[in-house]
Amino acid sequence: MPHRPYIVGNWKMNGSRAMLAEARAIDRAAGRYPDVQVALAPPFTLIAALREAVTAMGVGGQDCHVNAKGAHTGDVSAPMLVDTGADFVIVGHSERRKDHGESDAVVRAKAEAALAAGLGTIVCVGETLEERDAGKAEAVVSAQVDGSLPTGDAAAEAVAGGKVAVAYEPVWAIGTGRVAQVPDVVAMHAAIRARLLSLYGEAGMKVRILYGGSVNFANAAELLAAEGVGGALVGGASLTAEAFLPIVAAAGSGEG
Ligand code: PEP
Repeated sequence: MPHRPYIVGNWKMNGSRAMLAEARAIDRAAGRYPDVQVALAPPFTLIAALREAVTAMGVGGQDCHVNAKGAHTGDVSAPMLVDTGADFVIVGHSERRKDHGESDAVVRAKAEAALAAGLGTIVCVGETLEERDAGKAEAVVSAQVDGSLPTGDAAAEAVAGGKVAVAYEPVWAIGTGRVAQVPDVVAMHAAIRARLLSLYGEAGMKVRILYGGSVNFANAAELLAAEGVGGALVGGASLTAEAFLPIVAAAGSGEG
């Protein structure tokens, strides 16, 4: 991996204050792996408490609105995330694209709003099983990268500063226990890198490309060692320190 590996846990709509003990345990271990950047994205309700509870790792949101404020009941803006202690946000997760009908254009606007607020941003992309079976995976993901990644001067600066990451998450691998084959992951990460270079020039090399989709203790080392894989976005296996820490360890083992 050319960059410091980035291991991010996405708690999705899981977690209560009782889970802060897990976050503290993850944080203590993160402090023992300074060569790995570790972060958790809890539900909005836990961001402030997590921020208070941890020292070594990043804390982020799972979504933000495209606007900074206004009449958008139930939504949370990027400046609000900053205010509550977040340092990054995930945008364009496939569950948001599916459940909330988020288009590439909306995801791009969210990424740009996040950068404007000073947040690091992880932009998610990934094909469905039907698209992969139809031989369209690379075309679909490349189009998502072209349409969802932030543009403009602020984006160029953020990219050059390493504040933008892409998470390649095949939809069929999320929460299913099905993991993409390593050669397919390597090929897709190379295709994404090509699009990033086209969008940002040489600075596109600064964007870490994470793999996501049923990453766990058993497959993490192999996936993280694969060419072009700059880290992992982890759902289910990030909910406990016991499940998450072996993934952090695999990233820090030097095998990646
Ligand atoms: C995710 O939701 O980003 C994810 C990768 O989930 P899981 O690890 O549970 O497949």
